[in-house]
Amino acid sequence: MKMFVAGEWVDKEKRTEVINPYDGSVIDTVPKADSDDVERALAAAVDGARVMRKLSGYERYQILQKASQLIGERLEDLAKLISREEGKTLAESRFEAQRSKETIELSAEEAKRIYGEVVPLDGSSHAGTKRLGFTLRVPCGVVVAITPFNFPLNLVAHKVSPALAAGNAVILKPASDTPLSAMTFVEILLEAGLPPLGISCLTGSGGDLGDLLAKDERVRKITFTGSRDVGERICRAAGIKRVTMELGSNSPLIVLDDADLEKVVKATVATGFSNAGQVCISTQRVIATKRVYADLIDSLKPKIEAITVGNPLDEATKMGPMIREADAKRVGEWIADAVNGGARLVAGGDRQRNLHQATLLADATPKMRVSCDELFGPAVAVTSADSLEEAIALANDSRYGLSAGIFTQDIDRAMQFAREVDAGSLHINWGPGWRADLMPYGGLKESGFGKEGPRYAMQEMTESKMVVIH
Ligand code: NAP
Repeated sequence: MKMFVAGEWVDKEKRTEVINPYDGSVIDTVPKADSDDVERALAAAVDGARVMRKLSGYERYQILQKASQLIGERLEDLAKLISREEGKTLAESRFEAQRSKETIELSAEEAKRIYGEVVPLDGSSHAGTKRLGFTLRVPCGVVVAITPFNFPLNLVAHKVSPALAAGNAVILKPASDTPLSAMTFVEILLEAGLPPLGISCLTGSGGDLGDLLAKDERVRKITFTGSRDVGERICRAAGIKRVTMELGSNSPLIVLDDADLEKVVKATVATGFSNAGQVCISTQRVIATKRVYADLIDSLKPKIEAITVGNPLDEATKMGPMIREADAKRVGEWIADAVNGGARLVAGGDRQRNLHQATLLADATPKMRVSCDELFGPAVAVTSADSLEEAIALANDSRYGLSAGIFTQDIDRAMQFAREVDAGSLHINWGPGWRADLMPYGGLKESGFGKEGPRYAMQEMTESKMVVIH
């Protein structure tokens, strides 16, 4: 595919291969953008921001509504593309494509609801009664959106759609592993009537392009989803700009004595292994109280062993490959470290190329990498705790705080968890790996700051002006 810069599809001699992670075949190639392309995209985005700002909310709604409809008509093709470039199973890709349609539709609706508020100036000691004050929400202008590989369509939709709905121009830099879904989305937006200067999509290495985009003064807002360390680098380069950071995690799931174990097993399988564990809110750590600990491990073992790994395009496959062989290898190394440190390998553990088996570790301790770092792979590590208080302390023993879950029938203990665990989302009687696209979503601590979900993202992609009529 070509990339889309400054209103035209652009080709380059230097190109990057897009690889199918399952079989290593080359699906397509994309251009490698350089600093000239970044400059052209930035200059065009400044003009594009003027064009976008002049569209009415209803016109922006119509464009996005049409794009959502087009996605809906192409769900199956998009799902196959996601599976081929990212490696998730077809069922997971269909779900992602359907969610993307909804994310764009939600953004379209929000284009009609950008409210300011009347400020009661007469409450001030010196304003009197004859002044009227109100706020206007205006677009930021140029928004840079940098996206990760693991949801190559929906996480792009979560940034681009609210930015456009709010009247901004966007420069999109998708992950180099998965640029094709993003570029197909750009095609769809243009087909839906988006002014061509409203979006540029640069393909190429984030390491080469990232600083140029992040530090440029014409950019007013950066929205980033990806790893903690890249996020920190972007923050340092950004200077005085608005920034949203959606970073990593090692999400905990607490299981108390009164939990419904059948449901816990279902939730652990569903939220620990989807997309081969490459989900930012994947259940990575299960913290179970001692009375249920052994039963839980026994119940999890056969269910995790039943997760077949294979070709994501084969409908029978339950879990696809990891994105790169190096990542699958790293997961294997962290599991081996844990076992050497005293953890028990209960299920899985083997790997062939990018295909890592679904793995269950018992007796994990907080200092093991499988507990304290972000694994981003298909393994769940179980630790025991004596009490809810100890479980909460273990859950909070992390630099991250994106999402957490608890299983209990006791509302008081559930509320103690919700109040005391430091995470952006808290799930009672399900695992941490659950999201509806309309909810406010984002982390605490080093999992980042700012919220996504179209309505909330648009708050961050608009700015407020105060108007006073004297
Ligand atoms: P990543 O390596 O951090 O890459 C994310 C994006 O940043 C890619 O587009 C990458 O481009 C770009 N990038 C790399 N270096 C850059 C730099 N110096 N400046 C600017 N951009 C740069 O992350 P990933 O491996 O794709 O995704 C996995 C991570 O994302 C995990 O940590 C996961 O938890 C996190 N994540 C978080 C959320 C959330 O909502 N909180 C959701 C999904 C994923 P290249 O591909 O060209 O290197």
